[in-house]
Amino acid sequence: MPILADKKILITGIASKKSIAYGIAKAMHEQGAQLAFTYQNERLKSRVEAVAEEFGSRICLPLDVTQQTDLDNLQQALSEQWGILDGVVHAIAYAPANELQGKITDSCTREGFQIAHDISAYSLIALAQACQALLEKAEQSSIITLTYNASQQTVPSYNVMAMAKASLEAGVRYLAADMGPQGVRVNAISAGPIKTLAAAGIKNFRTMLNQNANKSALGRNVTIDEVGNTAAFLASTLSSGITGEILYVDAGYRNISMSAQSLES
Ligand code: NAD
Repeated sequence: MPILADKKILITGIASKKSIAYGIAKAMHEQGAQLAFTYQNERLKSRVEAVAEEFGSRICLPLDVTQQTDLDNLQQALSEQWGILDGVVHAIAYAPANELQGKITDSCTREGFQIAHDISAYSLIALAQACQALLEKAEQSSIITLTYNASQQTVPSYNVMAMAKASLEAGVRYLAADMGPQGVRVNAISAGPIKTLAAAGIKNFRTMLNQNANKSALGRNVTIDEVGNTAAFLASTLSSGITGEILYVDAGYRNISMSAQSLES
């Protein structure tokens, strides 16, 4: 029996088939979910519509999270088309490219800080608010977001995005506490580095990928399919006792301070 049979789940954050949100949509579709999609702008619209069609969905709505009207219209459209939501996937982050290089002491600006936090952290709260009434109609529902361990340990060039991820993770805990009594669970997946469009903005990302693979317990990087399967689990009743958590899907990187292999090389 598929673990998400007939569940209605909103997927944000698809920019390409390399997007983590695409891996999540694929896994959730395989587990029987009905999906609705959002696209950030007209440039991405046809691409996301093609993905929606691939997964048998006819719901594909505009959502730029900096626009309150988009959030209001999303709420209205989902109320009319579904009237209930079992899950929401928030896979959205952005910081201006000049913030993601060099030392934070050199690159961080007030404007860049505000943009990164607005789009990457506040948007989770805004999306939860927009979807709250529909999520509360389900007996059990789930919000899932994506974070990265640079929120906990420094990673060169991640700078302002690391702070936005720390804020996002705090947001997960507060939303989980506030929405829990109404049966809404809120969790984050902390994914290891994966080559996507957003990751391309991080300086030296290819080197990061190699170092991550070498140090991780599994000796490799993770895939969008692995993150997708974890998201499917978090959206399903199999994870009914889990909320407010940051679940690491990083091939065991976080637990290792010094790898045995690094001593041999
Ligand atoms: P991606 O570029 O495929 O997806 C990022 C998405 O954010 C895009 O779909 C883009 O349209 C959307 N977005 C940006 N600004 C927006 C706005 N104003 N309104 C609406 N949508 C907006 O990259 P990805 O790596 O799949 O990123 C998805 C999430 O996963 C992000 O939160 C990212 O920080 C997180 N993450 C990525 C990695 C990695 O290494 N790729 C690791 C851990 C966490």
